[in-house]
Amino acid sequence: MKKAFLFLLFLFGLLAGLSSSGTVSVEPPKSPSPVTGYPFLRIDVYYEPEDKVISMDLEDYVKHVVASEMPASFHPEALKAQAVIARTYALRKMQIFGGTPSMPGKADVTSNPAKDQAWNPEHVLKERWGVIGWWLNWPKIEKAVSQTQGLILTYKGLPAESVYHSTCGGKTEAARDVWGKDVDYLQSVTCSYCVSSPHYKPTEVVLSAREVSNSMGKLGISVPASRVPYTGVIAVTSLSPTGRVKQISVDGKTVRGLEFRSALNLKSTKFTWSVQGDNIVFQVAGYGHGVGLCQYGADGAARAGLNFLEILAYYYPGTQVAHIFEE
Ligand SMILES: [Zn+2]
Repeated sequence: MKKAFLFLLFLFGLLAGLSSSGTVSVEPPKSPSPVTGYPFLRIDVYYEPEDKVISMDLEDYVKHVVASEMPASFHPEALKAQAVIARTYALRKMQIFGGTPSMPGKADVTSNPAKDQAWNPEHVLKERWGVIGWWLNWPKIEKAVSQTQGLILTYKGLPAESVYHSTCGGKTEAARDVWGKDVDYLQSVTCSYCVSSPHYKPTEVVLSAREVSNSMGKLGISVPASRVPYTGVIAVTSLSPTGRVKQISVDGKTVRGLEFRSALNLKSTKFTWSVQGDNIVFQVAGYGHGVGLCQYGADGAARAGLNFLEILAYYYPGTQVAHIFEE
């Protein structure tokens, strides 16, 4: 990918007539100007609800992702950080940049947040926000995207894996403890900025033994509901340093924390539980996988005075922010 990416950077750089001034260091943070006037960069988005592929300009795609992935009430600097990482995610998928599309030959990305980033068209956002909400929110989103136009997160000159999540709950998670793959800039960082998130404090999820048994069936594990409440039938076998469940044993079979969470539809792998009668009561803290940028943390950090470059440097240590057309 590196060769194709750099070649395209060079090619588009020539086409756009841009001067090359190198990457923008985030330590100490500077304020890069958004690039204007570069060519239309088409991204093909598979919009699942209507089963169709929509071609659009990358910047337009980024606006709708920011609107779909982050509350518009967040601080403008948090929205700008989100715009940069949403654009970076897309770039790594776009075939034109030698990326790995989600649907090869059909679309670069899907609109489904379970597979890619959430993307919603204007009419859906208007339904969600209402007319006045649209009138208030959309200009904020457009401004955040245009003020970061063409900016991406890079590591060693290539687009970074700009993963993000809603709320870490105090510490972000290292990629190796979630996906088993060590990534230099996706390490655990302390986050004191997301305390205002509605997902920060543990919330209770009550599931019946039957529900847990059925959910385990989705993972191919057959455990009778009558056995679920017994001590030791469900047992954590590996915790990450931040207290998230890495591996859990279900009736003697080992499951990854991520799969267990997904099967039970829990908000994160940062959970404990107790048995109360026939129910299993989970206490779940945080929201999302915990890796990379903590969105509520980004909002808290922005309100504490950090700009989007400082926010990105905090959650992705060692990365830089660069223009798409610069090496
Ligand atoms: Zn956080």
